[in-house]
Amino acid sequence: MKYVLIMLMIAAGVFAIAALRRALRTYLKFRGKRLVSCPETHKPAAVRIAATQLALKSTVGNGPLRLSECSRWPEREACGQECLAQIQEAPQACLVWTIINRWYQGQNCAYCHKPFGEIHWHDHPPALVDYERRTVEWDKIPTDKLQDALGTHWPVCWNCHIAETFRREHPELVLDRPAHSPTATGTS
Ligand SMILES: [Zn+2]
Repeated sequence: MKYVLIMLMIAAGVFAIAALRRALRTYLKFRGKRLVSCPETHKPAAVRIAATQLALKSTVGNGPLRLSECSRWPEREACGQECLAQIQEAPQACLVWTIINRWYQGQNCAYCHKPFGEIHWHDHPPALVDYERRTVEWDKIPTDKLQDALGTHWPVCWNCHIAETFRREHPELVLDRPAHSPTATGTS
C-alpha cells in the first residue's frame, strides 16, 4: 500500500512538472506586444495575447489564442480577432522587439555612423531621430505608429541620443566645435 502511494506521488510530481514547463513555454512564446495588420483596416494594430490565461489553460490542454489588448479597443473590442491567425503563423516575427531589432541590423547611427551590433534593450537602448533632428525613445512612440516611424525616422545610438537631447534642451551650455577640429591633445 505504501509503495503504491509513493508511486502515485511520484507520478503526480512528474505530471505537475510537465504541466508547469508547458505553461512556462506557452507564456514565454506569447508574451509581449505584437504588431499585426488589422484584417478590417489593413493598417498596423498593436496587440497583446492573453499569455497568462493561455499558459494556465495549457496545463490541461490547448486553449485558443485570445487578445488581451488591441490599439483599436475599446471601439472594436467585439471584433472577431481574425488577426490571431497572423500571430499563430509567426509568433516571433510580429513581436515588436523582433521588428525593431531587425530594423537596426545593418544600419549605422545617423550621427556617429557606428554600426548597430547586438542591441541591449535593458541597458543603453538605441533611439530614433526624425527629420527635424528630434531624437525620441521607442517607448514614446505608440506601437501602432511604429511601422510608420520606421519609414520616417533614422536610427540613433544611445550616446548620440543623450548628447542630442542635452544639446536640444540646454543649447546655452553647449559649445559647438567643428566635427573634425584637432583637440588639445591632437596632432595639429
Ligand atoms: Zn551614435
